[in-house]
Amino acid sequence: MRVSQRVSRLAESATLAVASRAAELRAQGVDVVDWSAGEPDFSSPPGVVAAAIEALGQGRTRYTKNTGLPELRSAISSDLGERLGGPWTADQVVVTVGAKAALFELALALFGAGDEVVLPNPYWVTFPAQIQLADAEVVEVAARPEHGFRVSAEAVCDRISPRTRAVLLNSPSNPTGAVIAAKDLRAIVEECASRGIYLIADETYERFVYDGEPFPSAAPLAAEFPETVILVGSFSKTHAMTGWRLGYLAGPQAVVKAVAKIQSHATSNATTFAMWGALAVFDDAEARVAEMLREYQARRDLLLAGLAGIPGVECPTPGGAFYAFPKVSARYENGRQGSAAFAEFLLDSAQVAVVPGAAFGADEHIRISFACSSERLRDGIDRLSKALA
Ligand code: PMP
Ligand code: GLU
Repeated sequence: MRVSQRVSRLAESATLAVASRAAELRAQGVDVVDWSAGEPDFSSPPGVVAAAIEALGQGRTRYTKNTGLPELRSAISSDLGERLGGPWTADQVVVTVGAKAALFELALALFGAGDEVVLPNPYWVTFPAQIQLADAEVVEVAARPEHGFRVSAEAVCDRISPRTRAVLLNSPSNPTGAVIAAKDLRAIVEECASRGIYLIADETYERFVYDGEPFPSAAPLAAEFPETVILVGSFSKTHAMTGWRLGYLAGPQAVVKAVAKIQSHATSNATTFAMWGALAVFDDAEARVAEMLREYQARRDLLLAGLAGIPGVECPTPGGAFYAFPKVSARYENGRQGSAAFAEFLLDSAQVAVVPGAAFGADEHIRISFACSSERLRDGIDRLSKALA
């Protein structure tokens, strides 16, 4: 079969591939500890489920406006304003089929051949793939483990050239959990503004920041630099709604218009009854979000303590999200070279599924998702310790 050159150059999402391999093994009766998928193990809010069912009963099964249900766009704009100080009006918000679609549509709307996008490495596997699908080039900035994977403004700004169209930041980060420092974020936004380029802030994990630390969101900076900052968010992680496929972006009018044009040909509106359901999340989200935050922090601490006991495994403390990104290359032994071979070894010999760091541009590492129960974390640490004894 002939496929396009675009597809030939592209690898399937490694995060989804490992998760699906783990699911296959489970279906065969293998007891897999699945540390691969970045997916909350909590259920979606009951109020949201009830609202979606009610919407279905009421026949809310038709198209809405391309950019999403006006009520939901309005609720997102108020939420971003009240919680984070974002300046956006409802018509500066687009509801998308997950944050993944928001990012993809942004890439198609803003980038093209000859353009560069500055991206910290390690990066979520999908970022470079989307940038390349838009024919643009990724310019990487190293986020080093010895600095807790936090990028400095200086390192980012050094990589900006006359061809740069945007800087893409993801804080808290998938896969490292790093949270950017407020002063670096501000300096990067100021530099982007002075150069007339965009700062895209993927804040999918904004609610999961640990140790009581404040989260430096790009939203208040958008009030100062409204033509520069574009925010991407998601219902997936914050509210344990991955399968609903609901995300959003907020930004300058011109960007929203361009994205809406792409969306009008790509997906049209996100699923109508899902959007009606999501509207209910704003009624009582806080207690649930706080509970998930507490739980993830306890799991993070449990995982880090366990990893600290395994020789040759070094793990900076993730400040947010629900991933740990340990360096494991000291254990690339017995012919196992590289993170893919190492991950395969863990799956075969210990039935523990992790994502190879190579997928995130860092072959000395593996990614562990701690969005699974404490019991499974203990079990996994046990298995890892034995496999690497
Ligand atoms: N951005 C980041 C950093 C992510 O980890 C994810 C989830 N894989 C997404 C965006 C997309 O999330 P969704 O499409 O489920 O909203
Ligand atoms: N955010 C998740 C992950 O990185 C979901 C899978 C994906 O969309 O990549 O594992």
